[in-house]
Amino acid sequence: MTEIIESFNPILIFAGFLILSGLISSGVLVTKRLKVSRTRLHDIQAALDESTIVAITDPKGIITYVNDKFVEISKYEEDELLGRNHNILNSGYHPPEFFRNLWKTIGSGEIWKGEIRNKAKNGSFYWVETTIVPFLNNKNKPYQYVSIRTDITALKTTEAKLKSSLKEVKDIKFALDQSAIVAVTDEKGIITNVNDRFCEISQYSRKELAGRNHSILNSNLHSKEFFKNLWKTIVRGHVWKGEIRNKAKDGSYYWVHTTIVPFLNADGKPYQYLSIRNDITERKKTEEVLHRQDKLAAVGQLAAGVAHEIRNPLTTMRGYAEFLQLDETNEESQEYLRIILDEINRVNDIAEDFMVLAKPKAAELEEKDIIHILKNVISLLEFEARNLSVKIRFEFVQDIIQIECDENRLKQVFHNLIKNGIEAMPEGGELTIRAALIHNEVQIAIQDTGVGIPQEQLKSIGEPFFTTKKNGNGLGLMVSFKIIESHNGKVFIQSELNKGTTFNIVLPGKSK
Ligand code: ADP
Ligand code: MG
Repeated sequence: MTEIIESFNPILIFAGFLILSGLISSGVLVTKRLKVSRTRLHDIQAALDESTIVAITDPKGIITYVNDKFVEISKYEEDELLGRNHNILNSGYHPPEFFRNLWKTIGSGEIWKGEIRNKAKNGSFYWVETTIVPFLNNKNKPYQYVSIRTDITALKTTEAKLKSSLKEVKDIKFALDQSAIVAVTDEKGIITNVNDRFCEISQYSRKELAGRNHSILNSNLHSKEFFKNLWKTIVRGHVWKGEIRNKAKDGSYYWVHTTIVPFLNADGKPYQYLSIRNDITERKKTEEVLHRQDKLAAVGQLAAGVAHEIRNPLTTMRGYAEFLQLDETNEESQEYLRIILDEINRVNDIAEDFMVLAKPKAAELEEKDIIHILKNVISLLEFEARNLSVKIRFEFVQDIIQIECDENRLKQVFHNLIKNGIEAMPEGGELTIRAALIHNEVQIAIQDTGVGIPQEQLKSIGEPFFTTKKNGNGLGLMVSFKIIESHNGKVFIQSELNKGTTFNIVLPGKSK
C-alpha cells in the first residue's frame, strides 16, 4: 500500500488518507483498503482541486506543492511559490502569537483550524478558512503539512459590513436618545419603551409609563378628530408629523413636535411605532404672544380700512347734499337724492363686507345690467379723475349686459379698481374700461397707463394690508377679489412697469 501511495503526488496521499480514514471509521475491513482504485483517487483529487485551496509545506513551512486554486487566489505563479516560505502570504493582520500558536499546534502533530487573512501578490487581501494537517513519520514527527483552505472573503466582508452597520445603528440610537424625546409603542399604542428625556419632560417614571396607553399625556387640547387622523395615518404605514400639546404629571403643559414612524412587518402591517419628539414649548409661547400682537395690529388696520372705505361714499354724499342745499328748486334734486340713498346703502354694505370677510355668507344675487352699474360708478369718480388729469373712457360691445349679481358689491369692486387705476397715474393718463359679453362670459377690463406693479409685488396683490401707498390700507383688492369669487368669477392681472396695469374680470353671464 505504501508503494502505491508513494507513487502518487502528495495531494493524492492526502485524499487517500481522507478516504481511507473514512472507510476505516465506517467499519470497512482494513483488507479492502487496497481495493481503492487509482481512478477513484484521481476523482477525489479532481474534486478537491475544484473546491478547495490546497498547499503542502515541509516541516519548516517551505511550500512544496500548491494546486490551481491556490495559484488563482494568491495570484502568484506556481514556480513563484514552490520553494518559498508560506509566510510570503502574510498580510500583517494577525499578531505573532497567532502564528506561534499555529506552529505549536501542528508542530506537536495536531490539526490546526482557523481563519487567516492572506495577502495576494497584487497586495489585495483574502480570507481563508484553514485546516492544517500534519503528516507524521514513524518517530511521530511531522514530515509535511497539508493545508486545505476555503475562500471566505465574501463572508468576512459581509460580516464586517454587518458589524459596521450594527455599530451605525447603535450610534444613531445614541444620537437620537441624546437629542430627542423617544418612545416606542406596540401596535395598539401601549408604551413599551421610553428614553430618559421622555421621563424628564413628562415627569413620569419608566415604570409608570410602561404598559400605559399614550393618552395618559393627553392635554385635552386637540380634538378627537385630530387623533383619529393621526391613527388613520400611521395604521396605514405612513409617517405622521405634527405638533401636540401634552400634559405632564404635575398638570403643566408642554408642546412637542412629533414624528411617528410605523415599523412594518412582512405583510406591511405596523407592529410597533417609534415616536420622536422635540420640545417646542418655548417656541409655542413666543408664537402665542406674536399671534396676539398680530391680531391687535390687524384689528387696528381693519378699523383704519373701514374708516377709509367709508370716507369715499361719504364725500360724495356730502358733495351732493351741499349742492342740494344751494339750490332747492333744482330739477335734478330728485336724481341726486337717489344717488345719496344709493351711497348710504353702499356704506352699509361696506360694513357688511367686513363681516363677510370674517364669515362669508352667500351673496344675494339679482339680475342687473352691468353696463348701467359701471356707468354709475364711473360718474361717481369722474370728478376726481378730471382733477388728476386722468381721462376715463368706457367702451362696451353690447348696450345691455344682464348679469346675476349683488349690485352694491360689484359697485364696490369697480370703485376700488378704478380708484386704484387713477391712483397709479399721479401724472395723469388714461383709464379705459371695457365690457363685453363673449360666449356667455361677461368680460370686464380696467386698464390704466400708470406705474405698473413690480414682478416681486404681484404675488402680494390681494393680500390683506398689502399697500404701497402712504394713505393706503391694502384692503381694497382683498375685498374686491372676495366679492368676485363669491360671484363665481375670476380676476387676471397684466402689468408692465411704467406702462400700466390691466385688471381683467370674468364673470359668468346670466344663464338662459
Ligand atoms: P390700497 O389701494 O389701499 O393700497 P389695494 O388693495 O386697493 O390697497 O391695493 C393694494 C396695492 O396694490 C396698492 O397699494 C398698489 O401697490 C397695488 N396696486 C393696485 N392696483 C394697482 C394699479 N392699477 N397699478 C399699480 N399698482 C396697483
Ligand atoms: Mg385701493
